[in-house]
Amino acid sequence: MHDAPAVRSGEALGGYARTARGATAITDGADNPSGAAVSVGDGVHARQVTKRFATRAGHVDALSGVDLSAPQGGFLALLGPSGCGKSTMLRILADLDQPTAGEVLVHGEAPSAARRAHHIGVAFQDPALLPWRSVIDNIKLPLQAAGRPVDAAVIDELVELIGLGGFAGAKPAQLSGGMRQRVAIARALVHQPRVLLLDEPFGALDEMTRRRLNLELLRVWTQHVTTTLLVTHSVSEAVFLADEVAVMAPRPGRVVRRMRVTLPRPRTVQMLRTPEFHAMCDELTQELLGGASAGHPAPGNGG
Ligand code: ADP
Ligand code: MG
Repeated sequence: MHDAPAVRSGEALGGYARTARGATAITDGADNPSGAAVSVGDGVHARQVTKRFATRAGHVDALSGVDLSAPQGGFLALLGPSGCGKSTMLRILADLDQPTAGEVLVHGEAPSAARRAHHIGVAFQDPALLPWRSVIDNIKLPLQAAGRPVDAAVIDELVELIGLGGFAGAKPAQLSGGMRQRVAIARALVHQPRVLLLDEPFGALDEMTRRRLNLELLRVWTQHVTTTLLVTHSVSEAVFLADEVAVMAPRPGRVVRRMRVTLPRPRTVQMLRTPEFHAMCDELTQELLGGASAGHPAPGNGG
């Protein structure tokens, strides 16, 4: 069953918002972990991606035969313990690294072409803002760096979208950690990307701030109809936000489980208290623990 958002409204935000074209049923990730039907135009697709890093001691298989797919406008969470290759996968999708083998398509393009066309927006755990630039000037930066025109109205809308209307002129040092991370997300959206790649963007934040930003991210995603991949090690964050959760395990980095999230949209904080939400979190936690305890005799292993 597809819980992917068939159509989400692209209203509001004037010229910045895009119209939902609707998520097309491309591959059914849950039923097709082999990712056989990868050659499609929309969404994000990785097939049999392998990444081997040479090290002093030999090599590390950061990724081994990874299949992933998210339909256009979909929200996929990559969940897994440290070192299982989540960042490597995201970096390959963002064209910040190349796979040793395998195929990757970002809305029908190779990552290098998608990056050059500014079809990809990325944000990492470290917001990496320029301290001498204001909020608004940090958000503008990618446009200026690319020599593209800056539409002040569009930037203002982005600042409003991330709830920093009163802080447009503030410098990063004057902002909280959560506010800085919002600026990083707005900056990632400034090219109106087709795909948003987020690597633990809320990993350094306290739990309450994280929840608030989770809700904001849902609002951003709803209004901008961006195919989104979120790397996280938070089970509840993955379930709350995503259409599908891919669980990864290390050595070698691989996908060990894919779960379709059956919570309806729009997601609300009330859903965090439902048995359905907790059951999915429990199942994923079990999967993570099973992987972690693979080499150790532990009760409950085998999930
Ligand atoms: P995660 O983001 O899930 O924590 P990473 O993708 O950062 O995992 O790393 C996966 C594995 O690849 C780890 O064992 C890590 O040490 C290794 N790795 C990542 N980048 C490099 C690199 N540039 N050179 C060598 N090993 C690397
Ligand atoms: Mg990482």
